[in-house]
Amino acid sequence: MKLSGYFLPTLKEHPAEAQIVSHRLMLRAGMIRQASAGIYSWLPLGFRVLKKIEQIVREEQDAAGAQELLMPTIQSADLWRESGRYEDYGKEMLRITDRHDRDMLYGPTNEELITAIFRDSVRSYRELPRLLYHIQWKFRDEVRPRFGVMRGREFLMKDSYSFDIDYDGARRAYNRMFVAYLRTFARMGLKAIPMRADTGPIGGDLSHEFIILAETGESEVFCHRDFLSFDPLGEDVDYDADLQPVFDKWTGLYAATDEMHDAAEAARLGDALVSARGIEVGHIFYFGTKYSKAMNAVVAGPSGEEIPVEMGSYGIGVSRLVGGIIEASHDESGIIWPDSVAPFDVGLINLRAGDAECDTACNDLYGKLRAAGLDVLYDDRDERAGAKFASMDLIGLPWQLIVGPRGIKSGVVELKRRATGERDELSVDAALGWLTGGG
Ligand code: ATP
Ligand code: MG
Repeated sequence: MKLSGYFLPTLKEHPAEAQIVSHRLMLRAGMIRQASAGIYSWLPLGFRVLKKIEQIVREEQDAAGAQELLMPTIQSADLWRESGRYEDYGKEMLRITDRHDRDMLYGPTNEELITAIFRDSVRSYRELPRLLYHIQWKFRDEVRPRFGVMRGREFLMKDSYSFDIDYDGARRAYNRMFVAYLRTFARMGLKAIPMRADTGPIGGDLSHEFIILAETGESEVFCHRDFLSFDPLGEDVDYDADLQPVFDKWTGLYAATDEMHDAAEAARLGDALVSARGIEVGHIFYFGTKYSKAMNAVVAGPSGEEIPVEMGSYGIGVSRLVGGIIEASHDESGIIWPDSVAPFDVGLINLRAGDAECDTACNDLYGKLRAAGLDVLYDDRDERAGAKFASMDLIGLPWQLIVGPRGIKSGVVELKRRATGERDELSVDAALGWLTGGG
């Protein structure tokens, strides 16, 4: 992509409405624009990141044996009356009436709809287990939408639902999602810590929130220091094997949000206790037969008897993650994208657009990098070097490849790693080799 023709409306000034760094940087980097309170348009740069995050979530869900489908955003109120949540959900639910005076709503979550789909199509225990998910926009009319996409009213969520014949099956599904979540967040460069959680309006018996540590987190959290050195990508997982040992390892140490915090237990950790602010990026629930009983989602068991299915639900805040990753990875100059979610892999900077040698070298590099499968944002604008460096640092691409008139005469370019600020002078070929060899 050539920057001269790219829709990237960056801002020089700090937007006054943004209270936290990720919101400020997303506005400044031209990633989002507010449409109304808590509702955002995703501009091209932001949309690329959103899609990258979504794809990592998808790959890890698929690897864990979940199957993707897509349910609508608008749902009928009748299903929610069956579960009893139509009244309970209160003002957070956006209620809509269609032209025939039917009560509809913009889904804040999908337990009811997926349970209805399941009960209409699955008859026998032999068709179990099932693990289904979708990635769809949700609407919750939050009292205080704030912090940009971190607490929006309209937001993108991945939500999975498991159906099993008994408790053991449901626990296996829970463990699969638990492990898939550890891997998902780790692939985004995040340290997400699973913490025992309250089940809230979803209801149920067992629940974990996945929390990333960041100064601007909305809740206070406490955990054992050792969590910070665990690596969920260290070993391959076999989702068909017993995952209980992995679950036990990650839940054996103290970790709690303020709601579940036990000061006496935490005090026993002494120096090993970390207390910090946290951002909830995922939340998993086992809730047994809460919805299947209320909505009559039953299957025939081995001897023909009707058994209500055991269920769980598993959410990831896909759009919240965009802000969450920035909270965890930025400096005073701007965003520092982890390689896996960066909107482009390389920012190619032509320090003298219009100079024949610089233009030729840049066009050549641009073609070769793209041919090697890299996403390149080529700053071909006629701008001062300072302005180019500043916008490249602001948007935070992992690598900057800098081509200037003096260097190119002797065949050298500069390669900068955004995360460390390290700069190296290299021959054009060495730079190409480095970038296309996977860094
Ligand atoms: P919170 O406690 O932050 O309000 P929640 O517990 O109500 O979230 P869940 O029902 O567990 O949210 O939803 C699953 C995930 O969706 C959350 O872990 C979070 O990452 C994301 N999410 C929830 N509400 C919002 C929101 N208003 N804006 C952006 N993401 C959200
Ligand atoms: Mg939650």
